[in-house]
Amino acid sequence: MGLSDSFYDEDSKCPKCQAKIQGDWQTKHLESLMQSWHTGDFFQYSKWEAIPEDERRRKYGNKPLTPFLRKTNDYFSKNPLILNGMVPVHTGCSSCNSWLEGYAKIVNGKFDRIVEAEATREEKQLVIIAITAKKLREEFEKKLSSTRIMRP
Ligand SMILES: [Zn+2]
Repeated sequence: MGLSDSFYDEDSKCPKCQAKIQGDWQTKHLESLMQSWHTGDFFQYSKWEAIPEDERRRKYGNKPLTPFLRKTNDYFSKNPLILNGMVPVHTGCSSCNSWLEGYAKIVNGKFDRIVEAEATREEKQLVIIAITAKKLREEFEKKLSSTRIMRP
């Protein structure tokens, strides 16, 4: 087992037996830095910092192989990893032992929820919904024309 990143959605359920998924939904489609996101979290990695040596010694003594980095409350970037899209995730149902594949839905740079959970071994594809300038322009023109109609 290698490293991965995790998503937690308390409302996610097993599509086969309807049991709530207690554990995390994992993905290897990102940087696999053991980051975890809960519903509503900003979709970006946390910054890491070195644990000061004296603090490290206080906490772990002289034990070998102790951690030397820790997560901070700062994010690596102000921009999310993906603004809108779907990240393939998988988990196991602890009630019926089914292997589950699904998507972590990203909306406006935040982890929204787990969607399209299926009891299958077939992995889903990463989906990035690009907002193109053309789409923005279409939206803008639609709004503009509807305002014009509304005018007396
Ligand atoms: Zn189940």
